[in-house]
Parts: sequence; structure tokens; C-alpha cells
Amino acid sequence: MISFELTPEQIGLQKRLHRLAREKLQPYSLQLEGKGPGPVDEGFLKIIAGQNLNSFIIPEEFGGRPLDRVTLSLVTEEVSYGCAGLASIYAATVHAVSALLIGGSPEQKKAYLPLLLDPGGAVAGCAITEEKGGSDTTSFTTTARLEGDHYIINGSKGPIINAGCAAFYIVFASSDTGRGRAGINAFVVPGNAKGMTFSPYHHKPGLRNTPTANIFFHELAVPQSNLIGLPGSGYLLLMQTLDLGRAFFGSICVGLARAAIELATDFAKKRIILNRPIIKNQGISFLLAELTTELDAARLLVWRACRLMDLNLDYTRESSMAKLFASEVAFRAASEGVRILGQKGITGPSLMDKCQRDAQALRIIEGTSQIQKMIIASQI
Ligand SMILES: Cc1cc2nc3c(=O)[nH]c(=O)nc-3n(C[C@H](O)[C@H](O)[C@H](O)COP(=O)(O)OP(=O)(O)OC[C@H]3O[C@@H](n4cnc5c(N)ncnc54)[C@H](O)[C@@H]3O)c2cc1C
Repeated sequence: MISFELTPEQIGLQKRLHRLAREKLQPYSLQLEGKGPGPVDEGFLKIIAGQNLNSFIIPEEFGGRPLDRVTLSLVTEEVSYGCAGLASIYAATVHAVSALLIGGSPEQKKAYLPLLLDPGGAVAGCAITEEKGGSDTTSFTTTARLEGDHYIINGSKGPIINAGCAAFYIVFASSDTGRGRAGINAFVVPGNAKGMTFSPYHHKPGLRNTPTANIFFHELAVPQSNLIGLPGSGYLLLMQTLDLGRAFFGSICVGLARAAIELATDFAKKRIILNRPIIKNQGISFLLAELTTELDAARLLVWRACRLMDLNLDYTRESSMAKLFASEVAFRAASEGVRILGQKGITGPSLMDKCQRDAQALRIIEGTSQIQKMIIASQI
């Protein structure tokens, strides 16, 4: 049975978060953009803790109140409506937690998941990308060699969301570079581990409110018990967590697109040129009609991927479709939005300009649009 109706609980949660996103997050995040690169903002950490965002992804036995994936996509959409930067900080935590939930031992879950319920707010990170190209996840130059009962990690990763701020990182490294994907292992690394240093935070045009930096590993020793899953199972875990993450980045794009389309529509209704609101011109109203339709289609793709996750069915193709379509819709909505707003779209601190810059970054993160097409093509 297919139903698009939300439950009263889902609607209640959506409304609560929407109010926060519209009234507090949007103005706050715009103000924050001017601050320059730095660690995760304290105000964001308070929101993560105050809204119990991390408890939504942690099983009850470790102190959380988990939501199903469809409901989590609603949460992500609302947070992103307020700020795609905060939503991306959250998605990185979701990503790291997913890796632990899929492949982690009971001891690893017990040791690390509760750290995210810190009353001051907490985040986690997932370190995959290397200088040689984020699109190639089949081998890594970061290595993890087994010495006695410890793995010794060397190399570098970046850009990594929440670098330098995370309670823990999931790090993918090669323990046998000659074996390609079969040599990949995943590790949970505590945020304060010795042997880890960070580059300065990156200056970037988009997702400025999402801190990213490179992580450098110098003879970082983690006990063998920090290996996630069996030796050589890292590549499979990587694919599984990326599959999950893509749908959530899709919902971030839906939230951003919705904010941009609403902003453009409100403006077009109020802006009077040649004695009538500009929305009276079909050149504007048809564009907004198309974007509104695409927005709904993007959301439905996200919901379908999340529903398949909830049902424990295959969702690789659907998750990539959701990310591909939603990120392109977000980019089109924000770019056209800037055009509709005219000079007001780019002068002064402009929410639409922020949306446009954030949307560009969202087309790259968690696999570019070309990579999503390669995944979809491999499944048709
Ligand atoms: C803001 C931001 C935050 C990020 N956060 C994280 C993080 O927390 N953790 C993490 O591990 N990574 C993170 N990344 C990295 C991200 O996942 C990569 O940037 C992404 O996977 C693309 O890799 P790349 O930038 O190295 O591009 P490359 O892999 O160098 O690709 C360059 C271009 O070539 C294209 N291309 C590559 N192969 C093909 C092909 N076969 N056919 C057609 N085109 C191709 C790509 O689509 C792209 O347009 C982040 C990136 C950004 C922008």
C-alpha cells in the first residue's frame, strides 16, 4: 500500500522544527555566514542538543529515541529549510552513526553512540575522501597496518565535515594496498586520539556554516577492537553508509529548494514592475510552477528511498536517484531564485544567494551528480 499521509506525530514534529527553522535558523545562519571559517558553531550545538536531533538516530538501548528513516528525512528537510549548513553537519553525524549501526560491535556502539547525547551538543565525522579524488572509493592511500594488537594509521583525508570537533570519526583506510577494495578497513577513532592533526578550516563559497578541514594521521594507534566488522569488510560498509547518506543529502536539497522557491514566490507576488506583480508574467509563474513540481518529485524520491530503508529492501539505486534529482532541483531553484530576485538576490546578506552557494556544494558532496548517474546506470 502506498500512502503519502503523515501521522499526527510526524506533522507535530515537522511543525515544531519548521517554526524553529523559519523564525530562528534562517536569520541566524545568514548572520553566521559572515563570521569566517571555524569549528561547529556553539549555537548550532545548542540546537542539536535542544532539539534532541542525535537521539533520533541512536537506538533506545544506547539512550536514544530513534525515528524511522522517512521521519528522519522530514526532520532533515526542516533543518535544511533553516540552514543547509547545519543540516550537513547533522548528516555527517548520521553517516558516522550509520556505519556503527551497520557494522559496529555492541561494545563499539556502547562506547561511542552515547557520546552524541552530550547535553552541550555533539557531532561525529566520516573520513573517506582523499586528495587523489573523492569519486574513487575503491582504494585509499591512507593506511592502517596491524602491529601487535593495534592498527597504526597514517595518511590524510579531506575535506571532512566536523573535522576537529567530532566526538568520533569513522575512518576508512587500506590495510593492504595491493588488494584494492578487499584491503579496505573501517575504524572508529575517538575525537581526541593522539596522532591526529587538522588543517585550518576551509574557506568555501558554499556551505560556509559547515566546518570542513583536512585530517592528518601520523602513526595514530587504535586498538584492534576499534576495527569495524571483519578485516577487509570496509569497502562493503563504505558502500552501505554512502547509500544511506545519499538519501539524506537528498532531503537536505529538498529543504534548501523549498526555502528558495518560497522566497522567490513571495518576492514575485510582491514585486511590482510596470504596474503589476512580476508573478503575473508567465515567464515567472511557469518557472515557479515547474520548480514547485520538481520539488515535490524530489521529495517523493527521497521518501521512497527512505521507505525502502525502513522496509529493509534494496535502495542503492533509489537513494542515488533521490540525491541526483534533489541536488539538481535545489541548484536550479536557487539559481533561478537569484534571477527572480534581481539585484536583491545578490546584494547585501541574501538568503537566496546563500541557498545558491550551498546548493552548488550539495551537488558535489556525498558523490557528484556524475557519480550518482554512474551508480544508477550500473543498476538499470
Ligand atoms: C562541502 C563538502 C564537504 C565534504 N565533506 C566530506 C566528508 O565529511 N567526508 C568525506 O569523506 N568527504 C567529504 N567531501 C568530499 C566529497 O565527497 C567529494 O568532494 C566528492 O566525492 C567528489 O570528489 P572530488 O571533489 O575529489 O572530485 P573528483 O573525484 O576529483 O572528481 C572531479 C570531477 O570529475 C568527475 N568525475 C569523476 N569520475 C568521473 C567519471 N567516471 N565519469 C564522469 N565524471 C567523473 C566528478 O563528477 C567531478 O565533477 C566533502 C565535499 C564538500 C564539497
